[in-house]
Amino acid sequence: MLTKAPRGTKDVLPSESYKWQYVENLMRGICEFYGYKEIRTPGFEHTELFLRGVGESTDIVRKEMYTFNDRSGRSITLKAEGTSPAVRAFIEHGLYAETQPTKLYYITPVYRYEKPQAGRLREHHQFGVEIFGAKSASADAEVISIAMTLLKKLGLNNLELRINSVGCPVCRKNYNRALKEFLGQHLDELCDDCKVRYEVNPMRVLDCKVESCKRVTKEAPLITDYLCDDCRNHFEELKKYLDALGYEYIVDPRIVRGLDYYTKTAFEIISKDIGAQGTVCGGGRYDGLIEEIGGPSMPGVGFGMGIERLLLTLEQNGIEIPKPEGPDLFIAYIGDEAKLFTFTFANKLRFNGLKVEIDHMERSLKAQMKYANKLNAKFAVVIGEEELESKKVKLKNMATGEETEILIDEIEKAIKN
Ligand code: ATP
Ligand code: MG
Repeated sequence: MLTKAPRGTKDVLPSESYKWQYVENLMRGICEFYGYKEIRTPGFEHTELFLRGVGESTDIVRKEMYTFNDRSGRSITLKAEGTSPAVRAFIEHGLYAETQPTKLYYITPVYRYEKPQAGRLREHHQFGVEIFGAKSASADAEVISIAMTLLKKLGLNNLELRINSVGCPVCRKNYNRALKEFLGQHLDELCDDCKVRYEVNPMRVLDCKVESCKRVTKEAPLITDYLCDDCRNHFEELKKYLDALGYEYIVDPRIVRGLDYYTKTAFEIISKDIGAQGTVCGGGRYDGLIEEIGGPSMPGVGFGMGIERLLLTLEQNGIEIPKPEGPDLFIAYIGDEAKLFTFTFANKLRFNGLKVEIDHMERSLKAQMKYANKLNAKFAVVIGEEELESKKVKLKNMATGEETEILIDEIEKAIKN
């Protein structure tokens, strides 16, 4: 137990962390271009927030939350998704009183008690963006375009964008009645979970991953046939904006998403290469959520993208993330006096913006040079008594083997050129 991480968690080792840094930097960069600002919310919240914000009928609330009482008996839940904490902070700090819309993004761990498998973990990480305060379908399309831009920049051109409208409480009332009537005739074919969903929120059944349920819902009435004028117009507008951006998409009336609070737009971006856990990105509009959590009546739209699934998809597509470069300079030393000099000199060069490595293992000169090679250093110098005396070194270009004699004081300039 002591040397084994909990089930469903993963260490990111240095041999992998550069990939995370690469995609995270790309996410931050794209958000900057679109004008989204980072929000960081706590790793845990009052349990009520998720009960309210995610919805009692969802898998997350029903069976996936990490909930416990803290030492003073408060019910606490580890961050189970990113949207409701962002909404809570938006309300708590009065951001709704500022100029709208509010455009936010986050990169955060998320905790769900699920059966661990490829692309499904108990601690996973999400990149998410949200726009609060904008009801126009252009906001939905902008959010989608952030996800699409990221995927395109990463070289993933073969993912499927699936969109739907899940309507609003008005049109959903009629739809739910029709759906319930249909499902009622197939109750015995549904899984136990779906029998409960049938009672609490029948639309959830459409999201079930059990084969027999999928078979039943193939024939189910479609929400798109029940949309009210407002929702239908919004959906048409969304398609107009997506068409304008040249995105291909599939209208999939079966997308309801895992959270209760979605209204109008729901979408997923799916990779067919990573199997059952193929949804890389999921999001939609949640016009009732801010008010539901205790804020003013304001619309919102956003998405969450699983970073582990994104990396898995890149791997499956044979897309390699550039490996970090080696140090600019390796300084080998001979003797104690030279070591002290090297140690301080390296520090100065680093301060001035060069990546510099030295040995800490008391290696022989030959072994130090071997180590420099292994680190993939671009240049190397050796400093011993003689070099300290003459203030001159031979700067070796590790790629070509070429050596140039220069003053120690000139090293920085030489490498920067
Ligand atoms: P799924 O239907 O696959 O369970 P979800 O509807 O629960 O997904 P969201 O709550 O919308 O997913 O989360 C957004 C994204 O986060 C998902 O599209 C997926 O990429 C990722 N994700 C969700 N749960 C996990 C998990 N347990 N492990 C890894 N990634 C996950
Ligand atoms: Mg889920």
